[in-house]
Amino acid sequence: MRHRRRGAAEAVAAKRGGDDGGKPAEIEEAFRRFEAANPHPRGELENADPFTLLVAVVLSAQATDAGVNKATRALFPIADTPAKMVALGEERLREYIRTIGLYRTKAKNVIALSQKLIDEHGGEVPRERAALEALPGVGRKTANVVLNGAFGEPTIAVDTHIFRLANRTGLAPGKTPFEVETKLEQVVPKKYKPHAHHWLILHGRYICKAAKPLCDRCLIVDLCKWPAKTVVEPSAQVLDAAADPQQRRGE
Ligand code: SF4
Repeated sequence: MRHRRRGAAEAVAAKRGGDDGGKPAEIEEAFRRFEAANPHPRGELENADPFTLLVAVVLSAQATDAGVNKATRALFPIADTPAKMVALGEERLREYIRTIGLYRTKAKNVIALSQKLIDEHGGEVPRERAALEALPGVGRKTANVVLNGAFGEPTIAVDTHIFRLANRTGLAPGKTPFEVETKLEQVVPKKYKPHAHHWLILHGRYICKAAKPLCDRCLIVDLCKWPAKTVVEPSAQVLDAAADPQQRRGE
């Protein structure tokens, strides 16, 4: 089967709304396979603690993780705490992150959030969603990434990859990231929630790609509801490769 036009197919998936989500047994099976293939998934933004994760995520909006990592490898050795970041100052921070999109706004936000952490949270990153979302440059998605990545909370941040994957597969169809997040909260089995964010984002980024999804290498091809998927059953080779995350990414 050839790919249909992506936009049309995803529009159909989104239009399905919540009435065509995956069955619980299928969702359980999908996450069982994700776990078998990659038992300890990790995010790709380099960080050492909650503060450096928070800064990296703020910098990553509309930028690639690789681009952010390149900048923070030089930045974090000299500014890995709120106090050091404030001491560095907005102007010098800009020089470290100028290769990242929207760097002027991001520099302003990182300095402001660092100051707020010092003034209101004793220099620590708070573990509460409301306190995180009150920081400059921090929205719901960033708060979810920090709550999950730094504190192990079972939150699922819906970025462009997870939004696309949830709609295509029928796992959690929704018209907005918040709608998808809410459905994922409801359908992802509790035991898989701590790592669900990373499994989904890695699958969306490396396999269920926007323009040309690699359905022939997809672990959940038989469970996926997307009408335009290109094969219907996982090959033995794909299932064998499930135990090797590097092979899944084509590394
Ligand atoms: S089969 Fe896999 S890669 Fe293809 S559309 Fe479905 S989830 Fe994406």
